[in-house]
Amino acid sequence: MKAAIIGAGLSGLSCAHELERHGVRPVIYEANSFIGESYPHVGAALEIAVRPVKDPIVYIKDKLNLDIKPLNPLKKLIHHSPTKTTVIKGKLGYLLERSKQQNDVKIQLHAQLKETQVLFNTCGDYEQLAKQNDFVIVTNGQNNVTDELGCWYEWVDTYVRGAVVLGSFDACAMHVWLDKTYCKNGYAYLTPFDDKRASLILVVTDVNEKEVDHYWELFLYTEKIKYTIAEEFKQQHRSGRVYPHRVGNILLAGNAGGVIDPCLGFGVWGSLITGVMAARAITENKHYEDLIGDVVTLNSRLYEFRKALNTTDNRQYDRIVTAIGLPGLSQMIYNTPLNIVKHGAKVLRLLSKDGKG
Ligand SMILES: Cc1cc2nc3c(=O)[nH]c(=O)nc-3n(C[C@H](O)[C@H](O)[C@H](O)COP(=O)(O)OP(=O)(O)OC[C@H]3O[C@@H](n4cnc5c(N)ncnc54)[C@H](O)[C@@H]3O)c2cc1C
Repeated sequence: MKAAIIGAGLSGLSCAHELERHGVRPVIYEANSFIGESYPHVGAALEIAVRPVKDPIVYIKDKLNLDIKPLNPLKKLIHHSPTKTTVIKGKLGYLLERSKQQNDVKIQLHAQLKETQVLFNTCGDYEQLAKQNDFVIVTNGQNNVTDELGCWYEWVDTYVRGAVVLGSFDACAMHVWLDKTYCKNGYAYLTPFDDKRASLILVVTDVNEKEVDHYWELFLYTEKIKYTIAEEFKQQHRSGRVYPHRVGNILLAGNAGGVIDPCLGFGVWGSLITGVMAARAITENKHYEDLIGDVVTLNSRLYEFRKALNTTDNRQYDRIVTAIGLPGLSQMIYNTPLNIVKHGAKVLRLLSKDGKG
């Protein structure tokens, strides 16, 4: 079988890994000259977002056969709303390095490949590759091909502005800020590389490249953030529903397959799963939509959650952040297997009520 993969990202590499397991030697076309991230940052894999799965890293190893070493376990989540702060402690997930260094998730996955050829500095043309191969898996991290194929339905358009900041950090703690003034319907977060370096990221909805700079300055000013900035970046980040995920012999996976969740903009989980499932669909002759059904359902639920979040204001953010800090509630949300995403929109509406009806 001849298989071409467009993009040596998380989904492309995990797809190649699974194809190899089935005796297929794919060729990956990679536009960059390297494997890894152009902009270093620390990603989060939140346990709460993948329930009923208990441990995302164990699941990835047991069910996807991918061995990923996280940077650190996530043990503390600090939520900030305009006037409230709540600290949650527990086994909350993992922090993942995204960079050009050895710990980067893509570099880890690439090191596990044995037979795959990666053609660097080579942009894959999906139409041509579809003629030359039995299958093409589009994993280019964007929605352009998906859009051209008529499979993309936009959900959320955001601009991300981020930085590597220097200071003093708890290496296992993540901060999340919710404030409509500088995030609109987005959010901001800080995830540490170690106790001296962290990635600080602001996600703002429905703004352009220029406007996000204003919100970034407002964020730093409002939250009195004075870390030394070592490196900065900006990037558009879109979330959308994709259907179908297969057109002829072309399969769409990762961001190109619509895995970016419409709530937080996370996509590591969905990228790894859809990459592996695309390989299983073609090697085991299975229906791709069925194999990725759980990821699609998860994102549809998160879209409902996103819509509920969009209707809240800063006073409601204060109430939500206060409520999730209440011992019984924080225990229920973070330290039980309750599928919070499934009931998320309803829970959010309840938490944001002021108790007067
Ligand atoms: C700043 C930022 C922070 C994030 N934080 C988190 C987080 O905390 N948690 C989380 O779960 N997710 C997070 N995400 C999202 C997550 O990183 C992505 O969903 C995931 O990496 C997508 O994987 P992918 O394989 O689809 O694409 P990518 O990993 O982006 O890989 C795509 C690859 O395709 C290549 N390419 C592009 N076009 C072509 C072409 N024409 N030909 C050949 N190659 C091409 C690119 O160079 C790249 O190597 C974040 C994203 C950003 C930008």
